[in-house]
Amino acid sequence: MASFDEMDVDTIWMDGEFVDWEDAQIHVLTHAMHYGTGIFEGARCYETEDGPALFRWPEHLDRLYNSAKPYEMEIDHTREELTEATMELIRRQDLASCYIRPLAFYGYESLGVSPGDCPTRTAIAVWPWGTYLGEDALENGIDVMVSSWRKHASSQIPTNAKTTGLYVNSMLAGEEARRNGYAEAIVLNKEGNVAEGPGENIFLVRDGELYTPGLAESILDGITRDTVITLARELGYTVHDGATISRGELHTADELFFTGSAAEVTPIKRVDNVEIGDGSRGPITEELQTRFFDVVERRTDDHEEWFTYP
Ligand code: PMP
Repeated sequence: MASFDEMDVDTIWMDGEFVDWEDAQIHVLTHAMHYGTGIFEGARCYETEDGPALFRWPEHLDRLYNSAKPYEMEIDHTREELTEATMELIRRQDLASCYIRPLAFYGYESLGVSPGDCPTRTAIAVWPWGTYLGEDALENGIDVMVSSWRKHASSQIPTNAKTTGLYVNSMLAGEEARRNGYAEAIVLNKEGNVAEGPGENIFLVRDGELYTPGLAESILDGITRDTVITLARELGYTVHDGATISRGELHTADELFFTGSAAEVTPIKRVDNVEIGDGSRGPITEELQTRFFDVVERRTDDHEEWFTYP
């Protein structure tokens, strides 16, 4: 992944102001630095013939405000302010496409575990971000391993909230996979059933039907997951949303793929060195991936309601 220094971005929105990139600083005793008490989003803005287009922005905002709820965090800015700030960041920096990272966190005041009077800080950054797992990954699929780290249950930390602290689990699983030569991990839940990837939801194809774990399996309610379910059903596929998938079913699947705002639709070609299907991108994965990119890059007029233009 390119470093920020190599990117042509110089402005961040922080607590209502546009600040120079290097001035978007926080104190080392910030609550979120110590206890992971931040919530965030990851959305994409795609390049289209009508200019940059934010994909499913209201849904990302809904999830941001919902993520704040279990932590009783009050975001001091309205949806309209966050939207306008994001649009302005894209316009000012003349970005044709980008990744969007809104973040809210408990700031600096005192350092008990209780956030007490710590203010809620809010920031938005945007930057160019290509394919998360590489161009080759989209076409040929990736090798993944089942992580030895389990996903915590949603009764331990809410998994439908996108909380910064929660991503230490994702990091452990992802880095374990990369250390062992795999591109990414699959994480099982506490029961030992398939949950998701460190930053992706997972779909399994068997006998022409799609299966994906539901929220009760301790997953994030992915917006790309919802997009793919919608597009697959429109194409006439049966989608079992809320499936319980055992570890063994991964190996015998006809096809497997990940979804995510960053990962988009990424085929999985091998799990723990066992070939999935014939070990390449499967036909249904390819059809859904093509449909996904046709929609997000606006090669079709369908689902115009999913787009917001700066
Ligand atoms: N699961 C986890 C743990 C994630 O971090 C993400 C990325 N936000 C996803 C699933 C996919 O969600 P989305 O499609 O909304 O990006």
